[in-house]
Amino acid sequence: MLVDTHAHLDFSDFDPDRKEIIQKAAEAGVKCIINVSSDLRGCLASLELTKKYENIFAAIGIHPHGAAQINEEDLQRIPGFLKNKKVVAVGEVGLDYYRNLSPQDKQRELFSRFIGLSLDSQLPLIIHSREAEADTLTALKSCSGRDIKGVIHCFSGSRDFCQECLDLGLSISFTCNVTYKKSDALRELVKYVPSNRLLLETDCPYLSPEGLRGKRNEPANVRPLAQFIADLRGCSFEEIAKNTSDNAISLFKLE
Ligand SMILES: [Zn+2]
Ligand SMILES: [Zn+2]
Repeated sequence: MLVDTHAHLDFSDFDPDRKEIIQKAAEAGVKCIINVSSDLRGCLASLELTKKYENIFAAIGIHPHGAAQINEEDLQRIPGFLKNKKVVAVGEVGLDYYRNLSPQDKQRELFSRFIGLSLDSQLPLIIHSREAEADTLTALKSCSGRDIKGVIHCFSGSRDFCQECLDLGLSISFTCNVTYKKSDALRELVKYVPSNRLLLETDCPYLSPEGLRGKRNEPANVRPLAQFIADLRGCSFEEIAKNTSDNAISLFKLE
């Protein structure tokens, strides 16, 4: 069994063949998919997907790119969504200082609010952090001793950041960009993360594996990703599949 802990199947990229793509994932052994919201439309669409497909779960959140656009009225709807039984995480939320599509103070404000919602709802965070390591850690550490649970998704940071996140009890999720020719530093980190903290994701439609770059990524590609990571870590495909699935089931309480 495999789990794609981060997919965006609600995106219009999948409008022509969403059902077939979900079927193809199941045939590749990807038994569970967490569909991650980026905006309010995505929250509603993710919930719809969970109704239609038994093996799809939802994460509810607003991407830092949208921090400047989201209004209070829409934010008030989030706690209600988090009560849905198939919502297994708060995300994706965080900080993106690489593209800076929203002012950084707005991003920090929104991220803090979602950290609060994660603690209140006891749902783990799916954290997006790009070029914002120090502020991500500050936000995560400023919750007055309450235990943060969650994952840094599509990990692409430094080794120090990786270690600090592990020290906070967070998991680390890798996607198919670990297969890219220039990703030597990232491949070192794939070997560094303890097996009980490792998660797999596609972040589809983004980040197709080497050889398929420029094409749409999809959840079935968790299978070649697991094989690639098994080869890197010098263990079997079965071991990586079991470890990462167990980790996902335990963090997100997938049933
Ligand atoms: Zn992200
Ligand atoms: Zn994403």
